[in-house]
Amino acid sequence: VSKQSGRDQATYFNEEIGAIDKERRLIEADIRRGIAQNEFILHYQPRVHLPNGQTVSVEALVRWEHPDRGLIMPDNFIPICEETGMIEDLGKIVLDIGCKQALAWANAGIDMGVSINISPRQFQGTQLMDALKAFTKTPGFPRHKIELEITENVLFGDHNKIAEKLQEIVEMGYRIAIDDFGTGYSNLSYISRFPLNCIKIDKSFVSQLPESGPIIQLILTLAKQVGATAVAEGVETQAEYDWLLAEGCTQVQGYYFSKPVPLLRLQTSFDASAIKPAAPSAKTANAP
Ligand code: C2E
Ligand code: MG
Ligand code: MG
Ligand code: MG
Repeated sequence: VSKQSGRDQATYFNEEIGAIDKERRLIEADIRRGIAQNEFILHYQPRVHLPNGQTVSVEALVRWEHPDRGLIMPDNFIPICEETGMIEDLGKIVLDIGCKQALAWANAGIDMGVSINISPRQFQGTQLMDALKAFTKTPGFPRHKIELEITENVLFGDHNKIAEKLQEIVEMGYRIAIDDFGTGYSNLSYISRFPLNCIKIDKSFVSQLPESGPIIQLILTLAKQVGATAVAEGVETQAEYDWLLAEGCTQVQGYYFSKPVPLLRLQTSFDASAIKPAAPSAKTANAP
């Protein structure tokens, strides 16, 4: 590795960048192909009501059933879809599957909500509103059972426009949740300005209990003040569960209850009796 001329290095780096570019274009094309071939599916993670352990709703989480590479998780393709704009098409598919599932449950007399993640670009686009409007025309469609999860970075930009859009969505009968609360936008003024039904406490706070206790308490209070339901994400342990129950957090999601699962396993595996709430007097669960 003695004396590589500047020119050789430039060539080397250009080739390297060329290879990355090519790889990236292949992935994009593969995602596009996967969308066309209907390879994207939903898994569902129960949101559980404390203290009775009932599943009140499920969060729809997209997965890619790749013919060669197996099941691919969203962190591997959602950012690419977001950058390229493919998220509009993928988001439409997710919304479609999630809404049809909600309708199927409603038709079967099952009282089950469905939460659907909406990315910033999807929120800004026009397809989302068109699709939401179209669904409201379906007879029996339980729009009040559909919750759109948006992250705080959706809220960057013109607040008048965003407020208007959120208002329109809520007026159509859908619900709005703020996802990963506390990790993004630090200007909290939007909380009282926008119509919000639900605040999802980011799993990083839950996993840092008990140190993060004051932050979670603050979010619980804030949610109550603005009339939103607080949901704790990423609950993995009995200790976290006990702490949340003792502090009056009534809705939780996490591996402690269930990982996201395919529909078939959701329908057959859920057993309310397997979820054992701590004694309601568990205020002492705070103690280390
Ligand atoms: P998210 O919306 O915050 O979803 C929660 C993520 O945490 C999911 O990861 C879920 O599997 C995981 N999780 C749930 N319980 C636990 C737990 O107890 N411990 C830990 N460590 N993790 C837990 P997943 O399914 O890989 O999704 C990652 C992210 O990808 C989502 O975060 C969401 O931002 C995005 N995403 C997923 N599906 C969609 C979609 O259909 N559309 C859009 N735009 N984004 C999606
Ligand atoms: Mg979410
Ligand atoms: Mg989240
Ligand atoms: Mg997330």
